[in-house]
Amino acid sequence: MYFECINCNTSVDAHISISLCTHCGYPLTIRHNGDPEMQTNNEAVTLGEGHSKMITLAKVANSLGVSKIYAKLENSNPTGSFKDRGSSAMLSAIKSAGISSIVEDSSGNAGASIAAYAALAGITAHIFVPENAPKAKVDQILVYGANVHKIPGHRDNAEIQAKNFASEQKLLYASHNINPYFLEGTKSFAREVVTEFEPNLPDHIIIPVGNGSLLISTYLVLKECWVSGNISKIPKLYAVQSESIKPIVSRLHNIGWSFNPEQNTCADGIASLNPPRMKQIVNSIIKTKGDSIGVSEESIQKHHRLVAENEGIYMEPTSAVSFAGLEALVNNKTIDSGDSVLIPITGSGLKSST
Ligand SMILES: [Zn+2]
Repeated sequence: MYFECINCNTSVDAHISISLCTHCGYPLTIRHNGDPEMQTNNEAVTLGEGHSKMITLAKVANSLGVSKIYAKLENSNPTGSFKDRGSSAMLSAIKSAGISSIVEDSSGNAGASIAAYAALAGITAHIFVPENAPKAKVDQILVYGANVHKIPGHRDNAEIQAKNFASEQKLLYASHNINPYFLEGTKSFAREVVTEFEPNLPDHIIIPVGNGSLLISTYLVLKECWVSGNISKIPKLYAVQSESIKPIVSRLHNIGWSFNPEQNTCADGIASLNPPRMKQIVNSIIKTKGDSIGVSEESIQKHHRLVAENEGIYMEPTSAVSFAGLEALVNNKTIDSGDSVLIPITGSGLKSST
């Protein structure tokens, strides 16, 4: 196993203290020398994450005009979001390296997840959150015993402050947005999807995307499975964003966009202005012939309510972004009525404020 920079093709030995390429600064990605699975050992920090159930949403599929919607219930993970897959892998690597304190910045779900796995591993976690992060998410981080640092302003300010703090205190900056082990851990989502559907995967996978770990890891797994002949087609991958915060839509379609602090979003989990793995996000979309679109706050809130009312699923507004995106993709004829769609229910509604 080693780290590779997909931006400048530099390779380095894997080490927990390195996340960024020393040549160009791009976040590194784990590559394997014939050992496709992460080695698991007694040091593994696990709360039983993953192996989430898949269900079909007949009523919403009917109302949105597609043949089938599969929902993978990532909200059933131990801390209520898919982030637990990445946290388990990252904290396992941190624990086996003998590191005792870490610094992370998060809008909520990743912070709560990393706080939980750090608690289990006996590691001190400093979690930097935006001042306006949902109270239930901040409460969850606190109850795991992490040190919460509330930072005024946009979510990106929390990132700057976290990096400064890590550097001043000489602590490991274990950011879920750049750490190679975190990205690697989220691959178990797509591996489960492939196992469940093999060889006939759904036509489309629609993901709410902020920093892109789930989208990128899904692409990496699909590519590996395609090369080894395990799947008969590659689903198209879609990165759906809020109209208010859409750097990926802007980059992919080469359209101007700048952040207006007056226009916030209820999709707090994907409010990232500058995703560090942008190149991999765009590549994942282009290589699968997918797309990235922005959706309105009204549409996010409408689908948040409709999925709860019709299917009994209480997800966070960030997860409803995928359903708003599906409606838009059907309306613009990107997705046909006979198509099948997979949507990850990325996070629980129990810790959102709506
Ligand atoms: Zn590089």
